Amino acid sequence: MDGRVIIVGGGPVGLVAALKLARAGVSVTVLERATEMHAEPRASTFHAPTLELLDTLGLTEKLIALGRAAPQWQYRVFETGDAAVFDMTLIADETRYPFRLQCEQFNLVKVAVEALNREAPGAVIFGAEVTDISQTADEVRVTFTHDGHTQSLNGAWLIAADGAASAVRTKLGISFEGSTYPQVSFTVGTTFPLHEHMNGLLGVNYFWSDFGPWGQFRTGLMWRVGWSPPLDSINEDILSDDVVQAKLAKICPAGAPYDLITARLYRTHRRIAGTFTQGRIALAGDAAHLNSPTGGFGMNGGVQDAFNLTGKLVEILNGAKAEPLLDRYTRQRRSAAVDDIQSTSDTNYRRHREKDPAKRLEALKDLQAITADRDRHRAYLLDNALINSYRRSEAIP
Ligand SMILES: Cc1cc2nc3c(=O)[nH]c(=O)nc-3n(C[C@H](O)[C@H](O)[C@H](O)COP(=O)(O)OP(=O)(O)OC[C@H]3O[C@@H](n4cnc5c(N)ncnc54)[C@H](O)[C@@H]3O)c2cc1C
Repeated sequence: MDGRVIIVGGGPVGLVAALKLARAGVSVTVLERATEMHAEPRASTFHAPTLELLDTLGLTEKLIALGRAAPQWQYRVFETGDAAVFDMTLIADETRYPFRLQCEQFNLVKVAVEALNREAPGAVIFGAEVTDISQTADEVRVTFTHDGHTQSLNGAWLIAADGAASAVRTKLGISFEGSTYPQVSFTVGTTFPLHEHMNGLLGVNYFWSDFGPWGQFRTGLMWRVGWSPPLDSINEDILSDDVVQAKLAKICPAGAPYDLITARLYRTHRRIAGTFTQGRIALAGDAAHLNSPTGGFGMNGGVQDAFNLTGKLVEILNGAKAEPLLDRYTRQRRSAAVDDIQSTSDTNYRRHREKDPAKRLEALKDLQAITADRDRHRAYLLDNALINSYRRSEAIP
């Protein structure tokens, strides 16, 4: 097999793609703009199909050791404790991983880089910012800056895993239609043991309260608490330590003042690339699709793209015709992004941010009715763990 695959972006998607290709004997180079591995937690939920895929690379047990499994998760009313509890053990016959693994995405980056450094030394180049790309019928060419010098690299194929603001997607002129959500995502992390001071907590909690909704997730390292101030309310005040501390003190006074180990603000979008491939270049992960973070789907969808795409690239490098396979990649993974990931996360987003107390109560009753009915409960879990999405997309011809 000959032909290097160049990957732009050393986030979770680019690195998983690189490791999958390296394991198949493909020569691979990852160009990552950052000078070292990102340390921001961002994604924390790994869903079952992603864990099954990562297990084929020997990464899942490592992630489980670094994270925390959440077999149950809930929507809960803060003031009353009334809750709808979802129980992943109900679908233990459908997956080897009947839980949501709560583990920061930097852990996936770390274990993937370690594996690549061992198995394909030199494959990951940090501090390499891609500034231009071009392609002919036979090859791709990438221009990047590294150590203050402009360099170029040729390859047979290119994977653009360069995130939401993908320079490759922009350069190719591929549309990225959609909208920006009216609320931002503000996520903080603390090592304070919230579970020792709040009743009824599970590993994953979506709270409704009279003072706004929030998500609360327990990873191996910290409790992460995320809430959603309106986009147009963002100013220095809302980001100030005083406001953050006051918010956390309302949730759990026992920890105040909180020792914060991370606090970050993210804009959230629902967007989709017009096509996932153009010639010898394919988009994957956030470069191809964005969704609301509610439910924890973006990275999972991206890792699933990486497996799907690299499987096809290996076939192509072994002599299969490229166009039908790459068209199928777009059909399969674009459909997963639009029909499942965006649509389910959007429903989750709207439900969790419902302001009308009567409608919130109705939503809770609906969720409780689902959990009370075994078949509906299982169906809900299969959708919200992306198991149905993964199966549906793989079956698309
Ligand atoms: C608050 C929040 C919570 C989330 N929680 C979850 C969750 O629980 N579960 C989940 O599945 N998803 C979650 N997500 C989404 C998840 O973080 C993203 O989907 C994921 O990071 C996408 O990975 P990626 O590799 O495609 O892109 P990125 O992680 O953005 O990586 C892209 C990489 O490309 C590099 N790069 C960019 N431009 C260039 C260039 N020109 N040259 C070289 N390198 C470049 C960047 O430095 C970066 O390292 C969450 C998102 C947010 C904001």
